Parts: sequence; structure tokens; C-alpha cells
Amino acid sequence: MNTPSLRPGFVPAFVALALSCAAHADAPQPPQPSGLRDIAEAVSADELKSTIAKLVGFGTRHTLSDTKSDKRGIGAARRWAQARFVAIGKDCGGCLEVVTPSQTVTGKRIPQPAEVMDVVAIQRGTDDATRVVVITGHLDSRVTDVMNVKSDAPGANDDGSGTAVVIETARVLSKHKFKATIVYGVLSGEEQGLYGGKVLADYAKQQGWQVETDLNNDIVGNTRGQDGVNDNTIVRVFSEGTKSVETADQAKDRRYHGGEIDSPSRNVARFMADIAQKNLTNFRVRMVYRTDRYGRGGDQVPFLEAGYPAVRVTEAHENYTRQHQDLRTENGVRYGDTIDGVDFAYLAQVARLNALTLASLAAAPAPPGGVDIEGAVASDTTIHWQPVAGATGYRVWWRDTLAPQWQQSRWVGDATKTTLKDIVVDDAFFGVSAIAADGFESPVVFAGTAGSFASAPADKPHP
Ligand SMILES: [Zn+2]
Repeated sequence: MNTPSLRPGFVPAFVALALSCAAHADAPQPPQPSGLRDIAEAVSADELKSTIAKLVGFGTRHTLSDTKSDKRGIGAARRWAQARFVAIGKDCGGCLEVVTPSQTVTGKRIPQPAEVMDVVAIQRGTDDATRVVVITGHLDSRVTDVMNVKSDAPGANDDGSGTAVVIETARVLSKHKFKATIVYGVLSGEEQGLYGGKVLADYAKQQGWQVETDLNNDIVGNTRGQDGVNDNTIVRVFSEGTKSVETADQAKDRRYHGGEIDSPSRNVARFMADIAQKNLTNFRVRMVYRTDRYGRGGDQVPFLEAGYPAVRVTEAHENYTRQHQDLRTENGVRYGDTIDGVDFAYLAQVARLNALTLASLAAAPAPPGGVDIEGAVASDTTIHWQPVAGATGYRVWWRDTLAPQWQQSRWVGDATKTTLKDIVVDDAFFGVSAIAADGFESPVVFAGTAGSFASAPADKPHP
């Protein structure tokens, strides 16, 4: 990033002492990453609010609604989102390229052929423009009858909130430069069958992008749960346990050696939990070990099916009287997804989490490939991996097999192999992260094909 470095290389004495015991004595420690505070502070609750107010003003944004009007319907909303990206791009000297990939589709909820169009802004990376991190939200909205294209469907929270987060992260992050490309996706067709996610995943394949992750934000702005809980301090991040594209051979190997809870998507969720813990106040990630909420889906699913890591970000306590409902009052209960159901201070925290995650991923080197372990019938564990462009060192991680988050780590400097003395390979899970000279660090990659971030399923089975 082009933000000034705060105290580069500064490590408090007691931390340095602790690290020096664990690390190779001759390997200089990486600095702490800087610049994230500026990004967090730039996120504005007022910007988020004005975006959602604008979206609600289009009446309905149903995928099959009017596309010609400039005042009402999905067409007007799409053109507004496009204009917003263009304006943000102007403010950063043309750093955003705006494209509108589309497909004509039919399906259970699209009986006649209809065009599903996404509005996408691309901020090209300075070092490796084919390495891509994606953020998505969906523009389309609905009421009780999913085929009702006429009634007002404000969709303030589902998914005006996610769309506002996508646009706000573009506004904030476009002021900085990153090594990898960031793609901001405002999708359509979600409520009709996750079509917009497929349109963007297909576009990514056509472009030859190496998608490191998609952060799909869907229903992220409400803090008054139907369960009676009011909570503005937690956001849920859902991640699949094993890869959607895992082959039968890979599954067989994974059942034997482990990896059920270590897909790359899961390690992105852990990365986000760590970002929140280190950088945000009174706000944390609750990881959920599922692809999505029970029996429901989102636009991260087509990414997973394309072999790309992806997570779903959703508020901690949903209110179902405000989702997919005709606007009405029944027995004293008000139904409908109106703007008064959005907590903008909370939504700003969600936006900060996304902005910091995108910035950290795009500033870090790529996650290492070829991570593997050896050590059967021995008292030491050896880990090796392939070198990563732009990495000046690596950290090896391990944890108890029952632990949700990585527990132990060792900085090994610029190596591609290390041996952990007296750590028995049977008793822990192992991974590796890559670190740049400025301290930005990739997600941890779990050893073996189960954890690999490579877009296509790796064909080499674990030994
Ligand atoms: Zn939604």
C-alpha cells in the first residue's frame, strides 16, 4: 500500500525475546503491517446509509423488473451502481475499470429467457494483476412471492446492505494501491437462483483470474434478531469444510490424513477472524463451519463450485419478519425489508472488516502452493512448500487437531522447508503463510490438496 509506514520493524522488546526463542536466530523478523488504521477510519456509516436510501428509492430491484425506466426497477439500479463505480474511479485517477458481464438465462424462477447482468469494478494490482480478491453483494430484491416483479421490494438489508459494503470498500480502497487485483461485484439474479454469482465466476474463468477468495456479503446490517437478541458486536462468517470441487481420490486421501475443517475458504474465515481481533474494537467474527445457513444459499456457492475459495458474511441475528416479505402490518407486527431495520454503525463495522480483509489479502503475497508434510514414524515434522513471488519469508503454523484457530507459529525466514523438532506429525495440523517485506501475510495454507488455494483442483494426490 502507499500509506506511510508506522515504525517499520518495531517489535516490543518482550515480543522480540519471545520470538527469538522460537525462530531461526539469523532470520530478521518481519515488521507489523501498517496502513490498516487509515482504511478502517475512512469507512463511513453516512456513505452506507446514502447508498441504501438510493437503492430503496428504486422501488423494486427484482431481477425480472423494469429495465428501461430510470426511476424504478433493476435496470435503473444497475445503471446507478455503474455510475457510482465510474465516479469513484474518476476520484482515483481512473483506477477502476467498470464492466457489466451478463448471461441470458432461464430456470425455475426465470420462466422466460432474461438477461442477468452484474456491475463490476476492477482495481488492477500493481504486481500480479491476475491474482484477484473479490467482494460481492446482490442488487436484486424480492417480496413474499419470488415471481412478484411489481410490488415494492425495498431490500434495504437483503441485500442493500451487502451492496453498500461493496461500493464503500471500493470508495475507500481505491485511494490505495495493492499488489493484487481487487474486484468489486454488484450482482443480480440471486433471489432467482444465484445467477449473478455464476455470471461473475464464469467471467473470472474467462479472464484467467486466480481468485484467492470471494467475500460474499448478504444480509449484513441488522442487529435486532427475531430471537430477541440485540447484538452489534458479532458478524458470522460461513465457510465450507471441504472443497466443493474435491475429486473422489482427493476425498479418499483427506478422509485418511485430515482436512475436513481446513478448506482454503475455512482458512480465509480464520484470516478474517484474526483481522477483526487485531484491528476492530468491540467487534468479532463468529466462524460457522457450514457453507451457508441451514437450507439456504448465497452467491459464494457458484464461486465454490468453480473451484474458488469463498465465504459468506452475514449478521449474527437475523430477523425473518424483514426478509422476503410483502410490506404490511399483521397482528401488530410490521413486515418488510425497510431501511429503518438497518443499523448503520454496525454495517460500518462489517464494511471495515471487509475493507481490512481485502487490503490485507491484496497487499500480502499469494498463499503458498505445494504445501506438504513428512514425518511418519519419526519424532520430528518436516514441512515444505513452493516459493511465492514477493514473499521475503514464511511462517509455519500448527494447532491441536481439535482447535478452531491456528495456535502456534514459527517464523522461518526465506526458506521453502523446515523441520519442527520433537513435534510429532500425527498430533497436529500444519500450514504455512507467506509474508512480504512490509509484514503483510497471506492466509495460512493447510498442508495437502485439501487446503490448497489453487483455483483448479490439484491433480497430484497427497503421498
Ligand atoms: Zn440475499
